[in-house]
Amino acid sequence: MITSLKKLFKILNSDFKRSVLDDDFVDFPLQVPESFVGRIQAKNISDPLLLQILPDKRELDEVPGFGIDPLAEKKCSPIPGLIRKYHDRVLLLVTEVCAINCRFCFRRHNHEKVTDWGKVFSYIKKDPKVTEVILSGGDPLMLKPSKLKAIMDKLVAISHIKRIRIHTRVPIVMPELITARLLQAKIPIVLMVHCNHPNEINDEVVKAINLLHKQNIPIFNQSVLLRGVNDNSLVLTALSEKLFDVGIIPCYLHLLDKVKGASHFYVNISEAKRLHLAMQKQLPGYLVPRLVVEIKNRKKYVN
Ligand code: SF4
Repeated sequence: MITSLKKLFKILNSDFKRSVLDDDFVDFPLQVPESFVGRIQAKNISDPLLLQILPDKRELDEVPGFGIDPLAEKKCSPIPGLIRKYHDRVLLLVTEVCAINCRFCFRRHNHEKVTDWGKVFSYIKKDPKVTEVILSGGDPLMLKPSKLKAIMDKLVAISHIKRIRIHTRVPIVMPELITARLLQAKIPIVLMVHCNHPNEINDEVVKAINLLHKQNIPIFNQSVLLRGVNDNSLVLTALSEKLFDVGIIPCYLHLLDKVKGASHFYVNISEAKRLHLAMQKQLPGYLVPRLVVEIKNRKKYVN
């Protein structure tokens, strides 16, 4: 795992010091797996993967409308680490640990996680309207496999839970962690991975996705529309094509949640609609992800 700028610059044979925050300055530190760094083009300050992980001086800008809890998750949290926005689903923050620190992450100021599992399971057990549990964080696949299995076993034992969804960036950014028997449960598991650019998909990712397919796990993708990374219809089209080639269904294209420190990534809604329309012209309908903006209480489909 790379956590120092010095080491990152050495690997990339580059020095981008003028525009980056230094190591001591950052409350959300640099953290990136070596295998992800291996997909970054050396000496290219505009590399779309580098931009996602490099701490940038613009993160210190105070920009009106950008805050520390852009989706007001705290207001939808009856128990620490459990978020309820829909009648039939609950989302659990199972860990605060990620494989990578994405500079645009809407939870970059929120390190909350479930602390009282007894309360969480009893909340879910008491409400038969809840049929799906979403494991999120942090990244659930950064938990020890035995801990993840213990959580899933408890959920499977609740009769009204029909499926477990896992939000994860691990198969994309740290595919070496995926093993043949990582995810097993007696109810369906759905994986929502997070990939923003076609360059993120290499042979190791394909191997990991194949292992997950052998476990009969449907895999969807959500991306975030990011200035400088994928704000281009050709890149977005290539992403959808590549995802499908490796067996991942493009599902959502999110507008950036307005989190403090990420305003330089923001693409406004009219530009997003224009890009989305261009995708519709270039792709079959089933490869066009839904364009969504998250508002305080739920998703709003823009297109
Ligand atoms: S992996 Fe997901 S939760 Fe973790 S920093 Fe990136 S976007 Fe945020």
